[in-house]
Amino acid sequence: MNKENILIVVAGPSGVGKGTVCSKLFDKMDEIEFSVSATTREPRKKEKHGVNYFFVSHEKFDEMIKNGEFLEHADVFGNKYGTPKDYVMSKLGEGRDVLLEIDVQGAMMVMANYPDAVFIFILPPSLRALEERLMSRGTETSEQLRLRLNKAKEEMGYAEKFDYVVVNKDVHKAYEEIKSIIISEKCKVERNKNFIVDLIKS
Ligand code: 5GP
Repeated sequence: MNKENILIVVAGPSGVGKGTVCSKLFDKMDEIEFSVSATTREPRKKEKHGVNYFFVSHEKFDEMIKNGEFLEHADVFGNKYGTPKDYVMSKLGEGRDVLLEIDVQGAMMVMANYPDAVFIFILPPSLRALEERLMSRGTETSEQLRLRLNKAKEEMGYAEKFDYVVVNKDVHKAYEEIKSIIISEKCKVERNKNFIVDLIKS
């Protein structure tokens, strides 16, 4: 990975709204490539293979792990998710910026292997707000809700290892903050050294 373009990792606990914030980035920031993950979970209504996810069987997923096809992968509440390495590496090789919206375990795996990436942790404004968000989805039993909240608390302990935190109280504000982080990262001197040298030489 060179320093000019960036791998951006957006992570945070389940229910924090990172999907909503990232879909806003996807709609508005054409200059960023969004990696499409593989998953073993069933597609939801309106989700399309190759657009939202590559929906694969457990056998296929395990084979992909064995073949070293993932940049990172994780088990998230019983389903497996992974980032295809080829896609990300080829886009970075073309000089593009790539964004991964993944869970906290996956982000830690990327941090171990690609420490130059930019790591953004999305936090809820409060635990109560996270609980209300998870409850409003109406998809979890009270036992599952308790498990997700406990897991969220554990995951929030990793926020300190990230480069930035964004509190998702308001989706638009969270989107603006992430956009600002990306813009600032692009302006870093170390990412523009070649440009400066070429400019002086020209
Ligand atoms: P969902 O099933 O609701 O789309 O996603 C569940 C969780 O899996 C979310 O926290 C999402 O960020 C995470 N996720 C999606 N794709 C990946 C991936 O490729 N790797 C990892 N580690 N997590 C992912």
